Amino acid sequence: MSTVAIHPSVDSGVSKGDPNFAGGTLSCQCESNQVEVHVQSNVAHNHACGCTKCWKPGGAPFSVVGVVPRDKLEVTKHADKLQVVDPNAAIQRHACKECDTHMYGRIENRAHPFYGLDFIHVELSAEKGWEEPRFAAFVSSVIEGGGARPEQMDGLRTRLNELGLTPYDSLNPPLMDAMATHIAKRSGVLQ
Ligand SMILES: [Zn+2]
Ligand SMILES: [Zn+2]
Repeated sequence: MSTVAIHPSVDSGVSKGDPNFAGGTLSCQCESNQVEVHVQSNVAHNHACGCTKCWKPGGAPFSVVGVVPRDKLEVTKHADKLQVVDPNAAIQRHACKECDTHMYGRIENRAHPFYGLDFIHVELSAEKGWEEPRFAAFVSSVIEGGGARPEQMDGLRTRLNELGLTPYDSLNPPLMDAMATHIAKRSGVLQ
C-alpha cells in the first residue's frame, strides 16, 4: 500500500455507499452556531477533485465533491453566515464566513450544462451511506494548487488507481460527453 495522501475520507480505502441512501445534513466546521444544509437526495457523480477552486480539508491535495439536484438542497441553519467565494465563477461556492468551509456550490447560469445541480462535500455530513467517490478529476491541477510536485504525480496516479479512483485530467468521459452533448444540441450540430 502506498502512503500518498489523497483525502482523509479515502486514504484508508473507499467504503461503498448505500444505493437506498436518501440524504442527510451537512454542517460547517465552526465550534458553535454551525451552518446546516439539509439534502434530500443521495449524491451523484461523487469524485476526488484536484482543481484549485474546490474546498479541501486541512492540507489534502484533493477535495471529494459530488452533485445533488438544487431543489433537494436547503440551508436550514445560520444561512446568514454564508457568502459566495467568487461571484464571477461558474460555480458559486457558498462558504461559511467564519470557518471557510464550502457548504454548497450553485450554478446560476441556465445555459450551463450542469445547471440544476448543486455541488456538495458529503464529508460534512455525519450520516453514512452517501455514494462513494468513483473517479478522480482535474488530477494534473494539484500541481497548480501546490498539492503535489510534478515528480510526485506518477505516485499520486498509482495511488488513485489503487483506490479505484481512475484519474482524469479534466472530468471523466461520461461528464465530458454530457457537456459536449449539451453544447452540440444548443448549437444545432446534434439534432
Ligand atoms: Zn462555519
Ligand atoms: Zn474541484
